[in-house]
Order: sequence, then structure tokens, then C-alpha cells
Amino acid sequence: MSEKKYVYPFGESYGLGKELLGGKGAGLAEMTHIGVPIPDGFTISTEACALYYDSGKKLPAYLIEEIKGAVRKMEKASGKNFGGSKNPLLVSVRSGARASMPGMMDTVLNLGLNDTTMAALARETGNERFALDCYRRFILMYTNIAKGHPRTEMDKMLETLKEERGYKLDTEITAEELKVLVKSYKDYYKKVFNEDFPSDPYVQLIESVTAVFRSWDNPRANTYRKMHNIPYAWGTAVNVQLMVFGNKGETSGTGVAFSRSPSTGEKGIFAEYLPNAQGEDVVAGIRTPFHIEELEARMPEVYKQFVETVHLMEKHYRDMQDMEFTVEDGTLYFLQTRNGKRTAAAALKIASDLVDEGLITPKEAVMRVEPSSLDALLHPTFDPAALKTISAIGTGLPASPGASTGKIAFTAEEAKQRSDNGEKVILVRAETSPEDIDGMIGAEGILTKRGGMTSHAAVVARGMGKCCVVGCNAAIIDEENRTLTLGNKVYTANDVISLNGATGEVYEGDIKKVTPTLSGDFKRIMDWADEFRFLRVRANADTPRDAKTAASFGAEGIGLCRTEHMFFNQDRIFNMRKMILADTVEQREAALNALLPYQRQDFYELYMAMGGLNVNVRLLDPPLHEFLPQEEDKIEELAEALNLTVKQVKDRIDYLHEFNPMMGHRGCRLDVSYPEIGRMQARAIIEAAIKAQKDLGKKLVAEIMIPLTLDVKEFKFVKEIIDAEAKKVIAENKADLEYHIGTMVEIPRATLLSGEIAPEAAFYSFGTNDLTQMTYGFSRDDAAKFLPDYYANRIFEQDPFEHVDEKGVGRLIDLAVREGRVANPDIHIGVCGEHGGDPLSIDFFHRVGLDYVSCSPFRVPIARLAAAQAAISNKKK
Ligand code: PEP
Ligand code: MG
Repeated sequence: MSEKKYVYPFGESYGLGKELLGGKGAGLAEMTHIGVPIPDGFTISTEACALYYDSGKKLPAYLIEEIKGAVRKMEKASGKNFGGSKNPLLVSVRSGARASMPGMMDTVLNLGLNDTTMAALARETGNERFALDCYRRFILMYTNIAKGHPRTEMDKMLETLKEERGYKLDTEITAEELKVLVKSYKDYYKKVFNEDFPSDPYVQLIESVTAVFRSWDNPRANTYRKMHNIPYAWGTAVNVQLMVFGNKGETSGTGVAFSRSPSTGEKGIFAEYLPNAQGEDVVAGIRTPFHIEELEARMPEVYKQFVETVHLMEKHYRDMQDMEFTVEDGTLYFLQTRNGKRTAAAALKIASDLVDEGLITPKEAVMRVEPSSLDALLHPTFDPAALKTISAIGTGLPASPGASTGKIAFTAEEAKQRSDNGEKVILVRAETSPEDIDGMIGAEGILTKRGGMTSHAAVVARGMGKCCVVGCNAAIIDEENRTLTLGNKVYTANDVISLNGATGEVYEGDIKKVTPTLSGDFKRIMDWADEFRFLRVRANADTPRDAKTAASFGAEGIGLCRTEHMFFNQDRIFNMRKMILADTVEQREAALNALLPYQRQDFYELYMAMGGLNVNVRLLDPPLHEFLPQEEDKIEELAEALNLTVKQVKDRIDYLHEFNPMMGHRGCRLDVSYPEIGRMQARAIIEAAIKAQKDLGKKLVAEIMIPLTLDVKEFKFVKEIIDAEAKKVIAENKADLEYHIGTMVEIPRATLLSGEIAPEAAFYSFGTNDLTQMTYGFSRDDAAKFLPDYYANRIFEQDPFEHVDEKGVGRLIDLAVREGRVANPDIHIGVCGEHGGDPLSIDFFHRVGLDYVSCSPFRVPIARLAAAQAAISNKKK
């Protein structure tokens, strides 16, 4: 007999730690400790696992006795009997190592079933079919998991039965047929093991516990441990827990609960309850559950305990909880709790409220919101004025907020196909299932007839940040004839409907939408984020409209104004083409002079829109042929206007054609060949800044950026042209203006020669789009065609154009920053490639010590939050 303790009831093990109890066991002890009513049980410690191996892979008799003692305690506390013919005690047996090892060993459920207890379960649930199905599954699990025998033959028996009867689903099998199946399973067991299927529940239990310990050493577990550096010596614990049933009659039931609304974050319990049912019925969306008031009406005492426990858990875990619970014969049990998934709006409100309630700090609040989820809040909602003038054709549950409009698609396949063809569609289904995922991704929004707030459609749509209305019971959906009947009207695939995911309302036709603003909780969290971040956030914007949007989202300047976009306008393209096709410098200058006023006005408006914040203007970047016409009639028109023959124009276009335009005559290479282009742009920038400075009544700093620089000689050559023109303009205007000339760093060679370039440059901006393209050596415009093969073959895990490649491209950036700062300690460094708005990349840019990121206007809030999270989490490490 051992003095040492190996078995710990949940109620006696709080604080003993994961090392001894495993993660799951420690969690169950914690819940018990704070007073959450969970199904009773005990943990067999990790030390027992070591004991099993030290005893020649056997459980010593004294350990078996200790386990039996713990079961007897459970019987006493629950009033149930292990193997009894009345109120039988059934348990689950689960492994639980110190670190979670998903899939290492499956769970054995409903342990304790035999012919007697099965009959009792059938009687007590009034559902013989259910009891037989539990029994069948248990025999299968025991044979497969506890005894380690393959399940193939037993699976075959089930399949054959279904085939013979012509059933598609397991649920179609009748009680009588299950009875026969149970017998066949048992006969099979006897044939394989040469003994009867054990009816003694203690034998079942000890065999299963032994199997869990044995599984610690199986090849799957060993591989997993090696991969995750989990020491073999840790061992696993085993948790034995009471099974509870919500389908035992009218005083039983099951439900799910959120401690706050996962949709809006509103305070208050948000729960659903289904009497006389099992958890699976709710999750699968087979039956639409009732509001939790149903529980209050039926069992007020249980409801009271439920509410108190929800509050208790939220306070303890300091976050919104997502819980599953069951009531068995008037006794409440929580089966699970975890931090709940939520929409972006809910995340902001919950984080902000939890600060007010003193449960978390502003720093923690900032960490609680997923930056990319904000995207859903930055897009339009329905105009409240427009909503006032119309009425809804139907209402469901507001499962995931947003405003969406589209034509009706009746299957996921159709939704995908039509959206791939550029059509905006709303997926309308009775309910959704995991196979519908592609259609859900393609659709603007999702409407279902059945299901509650935790149905498949609701959960998946919320995760995607996609507008979704579920449980619109009034909808009649005829999938075959492709019609939706709602509000006494029949709609077809050509009709447009709109969904309001915030209210659950469904409308006919399109509705005006409005752009959101940052206010309330959103603003509050953003203000906190701004306090904690080091990286500044600018925007990439080329028009006053984009600049204003960026400023309203908190951009601290423009990090990249791509001037090429300014030349495509009707009035300008002609002079641009004239400039490109010019034969002499004089002709080119004349065309550029005609473009100057437009450029000046564009830049002036940008400065004014940003109210004096820095605006970084990049000189012309793309190869010139991109501006030339391709169509015959346009070429003719141009020839006529230029007094040239069509042939002359075509020859010039041919001459400008490049085989590799992305690596061709572009960026500052254009200014090397045609300095007058850079000169005109410099003049326009400086003249605009001088005027804006005067009109705004405050000092400005003009930033001029040279693209695609590859070394210091080239940079100096172009810089001197710009510098001379800038000085000239300032002198002509007798003005006082500060201006900085810097460069994009987007050619690998420039990163390697950063130490030479930096002393000449006031700033760097990493163009990670080109830098990625040139480092990998594949085109940013074409890579999407073959990258899927790289993911499928696990050569790449992610798109390097989306998340910066830290290993390769990142190493070049790191080198350029370090050597650049040594050579010029005052240099200001940012990034303006697409990665500037990607949270993962932002974490890297923070670590590598950039001064700012610049991203598209709608990503500015995302970048502000990601920058704060980078600062907070990197400090912690
Ligand atoms: C870049 O290359 O990252 C960049 C910002 O410039 P563009 O995308 O205009 O080439
Ligand atoms: Mg570039």
C-alpha cells in the first residue's frame, strides 16, 4: 500500500498545478474552486502515469483501489450507482497532459453502460433509441480505444445495415435495428478477444485508464511531443467525469450562453435553452432553441443559480465567456466555458466596459481586439434615413452585423459561381453546413430560415466578419424552383434583397449605405492604442478624398502619394502622351508645362486635406508605355492631334515596349533619361507646398521621394536635379519652406548599399511590394497563379505579398535599417508597401525599429491597433 496520493477529486485539487493534474484537470479544479457546478469527477495524476510505466506498464493494486474509492465518492455525492439498475452513474474518461496535445488519445464516453444500465438510461430518458445508440457507441469506443482494436469491422456492420435499409443518415436507424447492432458488436468482441464484452463497469474503467497511460507512448504522441518539445517524462493525467443528460424529461434540458452579447457586446446574459434535449441538438441547428426565459419560467431556482454562475465565471476569467450547460433532473451543470468569439463591435464594447468595471487595464483592453477584425466596422452600414422610409419584409436573429445587398443565390455552389463572375449575391438557405463554406465566402451576406445564434451559419459568418441573419422562420425557401417567399411575395434569383446584420431585418431591393466614423468605444480603444504604440501610422493616398478618409481614421500624414494615378484623367492623359512621344527636350518640356498646373493643384489639395501633416510625394514610377493607347482609334486620334502619322505613333509605342517592364525603364531611371520630368514634378510639389503653407497659416515640410533607387550615385544624380529645382522655386517665390528628399528602398541592391545611400537621404520608405517581387524573383502581378501550388505542397505557408517574409526580405530590411542608421542617425524610416497595413508584418516593422508604417486609408485604424499590440507584446517578452 502506498502513502502517496495519486487520485484527486476536482473539489480537492485546486492550486496543485498543471504539472501534477494536467491542463484539463487543473481547469476543472479551478472551476470547482470558484463555485461553478460542473459534473463531478476526479483526476488521476501524471505521477500515476509514471507509476504505471515504472510498474512494468501495469496499474498497481493500490492505485486501482484508490480509483475505486474515488468512484464510490462520486456515487455518494451524486446519488447515482456505478452499474446500477436505477439512476446509473456513467462517466467519460479523457486524457489531459500538461500541455494540450490534441488528438493524442480519443475520449471514451458513456462508460459504465451494460445491459442493465442501458435499460435504466432508456427508461429514465424515455428514449430507448438514444440509450441504445449510446451503448453502441460505447462498445465501439471501448473496443477501439481501450482495447486498441481497429474499428473497421464494426464500422462495416453499421454501413451494411444502412445500405440494406437504404438509409443515408445514422439517425434513420430504428431502436429495433440498434438492438441487433449492439448484439453483433458484442458477438464480434467475443470472437476477437475470446471473452464477453465486460459488463463490470470497474473493469471498463480500469482498462480505459490503462489505455490512456499506454497512449502516452504511442507513435502519434511521440511524434507530436518531438515536434512541440514536450518532454516524455511529463506523462499524462486522466480525468474521469460524470456524464449528464439533458434529455431526461421536462426538468432537464440543455443550452448555450454568452455572458455578454457576442454580436454587439451589450451587457447582459445572452443565452438559449432547449428543454428535454441534448447539446448536439442545439449546435447542429436541428431544433431552434428558446430564449433563456424558458428556463426562468420552468425552473426559477435553477435559473437564478445559472445567472449567478455566469457572472461568477466572467469575473473570474475577466472576459466574456461562451458556455455550454445542461440541466439534469433540475440540477444545473456547466460543461464548458471559454473566452467567447465575438464581432469587432462587440470586442470593442466588451474591452471598454471591462475597463470601466475595473476587471482589466487599458493595456489589456488594447490586446483584446483583433486588429484585422476592425475591417468589418470600417465599411458601410445602412443609412438610417433610408431605413426610415421602408419596412422590412422579414426578421430573423441578428447573427453577424453589417449591411449587405445582393441577388438571391439558393445554393452555396450557385453563390460561389455567381460571385466569382462578379455578381453580388446573398446566400439564402434553410440552414448552412460546413460544405457551404465557399458559397458563404463568396456571398455578400447570408440569410437562413432555421438555427439560433450559435448555429453553423451564425458562428461561421461572425468569424468571417460577414453580415448574417439566421432563424428567419417566416421565409419559405424552395430550393428546387429557386424561390424565396417572404412578406407575401415571391422572390427569384434575379431579385435583390438587403440584410441588416445588426437588427436581423430583411429588406427588398438595395438601400443607401453610409461610411462609418470612429466614435464611442472604437475611438476610446484607438486612443489607448495611440498611447502605447511607437510606430507612427500614415496612409497611402493619391486623392483629396482618400486623404480625408485617411485623416478621419487617424492617419498622421501621407506616406505615399503615387503621382502616376494623377495622369490618367481625361484632360491630362493627352498631354502625358504628348510628353512621352516627344522627339526633343523642348517638345517634352512644353507638354510637361501643360501638366504642371494640374499637378500643382493636386498636391495643393492633398496638403490642404491633411491640414499641414506631412505628405510624401513620390516621383513618377511606372514605365511610360503604360500611359500609351492600345486601341486603334485612340492611336489615330493621338496621331492626328500630334501631327504625326499613325505609323510614327505605332513605331514609338513599339520602341517603348519592354519585355520586362517591372524591371525596366521606370522609377528614377525615367529621371535619369528625362530630367525634365522630375524637374516639373519638383516644381509642382514645392509651389503647392508654398501656397498651402500660406493658406493653412502653418509651416509644412514637403517630402519628395525618389522611387526604385539602386545605389548612391544614381540617387545623388536625381536628387541634385530635384534639389536645384526646389531651391529655384523657393527663391523665385521668396519663400521659406523646409523640404526633404529621400528614397524608396525596394531594390535588393539598395538594401545592401544602404550604408552608402543613407548619408544622402533624409528618409527611406521600404517599398515591400517591389522588394518582395525582386527578392523572390517572381512577379507580384502573376504570382497568385502559381502560389496555390506552393501552399498545397507546403513549400510556402503564406503569401509573401501579404505577410512580409521575415527570413529573406526581412533580413534585407533589417540590414538596410541598421547600416542606414549608423551612416545617418537622423534618417527617418518607414514602409509603404501593402505590408504596412498587415498586423503580422507590423509586428516585424516594430521589432526592426522603423519609425512609421503607411497603408491604405481603410487600414489605418487596423495599423494603429496592430502597432500598439506590437509595442505591448514585444515589451513583455
Ligand atoms: C512598393 O513597391 O512596395 C510600393 C509601395 O510601390 P508600388 O506598389 O507603387 O510599386
Ligand atoms: Mg514599388
